[in-house]
Amino acid sequence: MDYVLPMTADTLKILEHRTLGLDAQLLRFERPDWDWKAGQLISLGGADPQDQRDYSIASGENDETLDVLYRLIPHGVVTPHLLKLKAGDQIPVQGPYGRFTLRNPEQPVVFCATGTGIAPCRAYIRSHARLNLTLLHGVRYAADLYFKEEMENVQYYPFCSKEELNGASGRLTEFLKQMPLMENAAYYLCGANEMIYEAEEILTERGVNAVDLHHEPYYYRAYDETLS
Ligand SMILES: Cc1cc2nc3c(=O)[nH]c(=O)nc-3n(C[C@H](O)[C@H](O)[C@H](O)COP(=O)(O)OP(=O)(O)OC[C@H]3O[C@@H](n4cnc5c(N)ncnc54)[C@H](O)[C@@H]3O)c2cc1C
Repeated sequence: MDYVLPMTADTLKILEHRTLGLDAQLLRFERPDWDWKAGQLISLGGADPQDQRDYSIASGENDETLDVLYRLIPHGVVTPHLLKLKAGDQIPVQGPYGRFTLRNPEQPVVFCATGTGIAPCRAYIRSHARLNLTLLHGVRYAADLYFKEEMENVQYYPFCSKEELNGASGRLTEFLKQMPLMENAAYYLCGANEMIYEAEEILTERGVNAVDLHHEPYYYRAYDETLS
């Protein structure tokens, strides 16, 4: 598999590659000459589409760089190759695609993310300065609450599954069962499929209309117990 190719219109050039928290990686690319909508994604990996995977764009629509976040899956096909990339390398890209875009920036947003699923939320925040947004971010350890310093204009609720946070431990979905719901909010759910399906069930039972539920499932944790 060839993951680093000469620059063409269909490649991105890496400016920075660093670790965030315990096991997420930030890949920062030079802004390409095409535009994206907050919430869209790109496919990255080898030249062959079979060796590509989807990654949400974590940058705002007018940012000077294009950022993505990924978590290393040691036995995965693509992420071990991504991990070898360094500043100056070029990587094949396809996209942008996807429909996980903000339907109405005037409508309050409740965003539920696990791990790197925070990426589209960051893109929304950076693209829409006046957005009324509540973020519920579920991670394993507090060190993985990356971007919390960018959340000063957001109602921000962090959750850690493997350690106590400020003397409390808890699950995002338990909080969702009892948090006060705004009547006119839209709910955006992103990350582990299990969280998404559980959250959708809870919100539907609590009376949220299907038209206000949007999701972007990344993976099934149940298939991969070693990574839970
Ligand atoms: C629409 C969409 C957007 C996505 N956006 C992102 C993103 O922004 N950031 C990101 O990190 N991933 C994202 N993903 C997941 C990503 O596309 C890859 O599946 C992931 O990076 C693993 O690729 P791999 O080739 O290394 O592993 P694979 O060989 O594809 O998978 C190996 C195993 O790891 C599991 N797995 C995949 N991802 C995870 C994970 N994060 N945690 C635990 N287990 C996992 C898979 O279910 C599979 O069982 C997205 C997926 C989709 C469908």
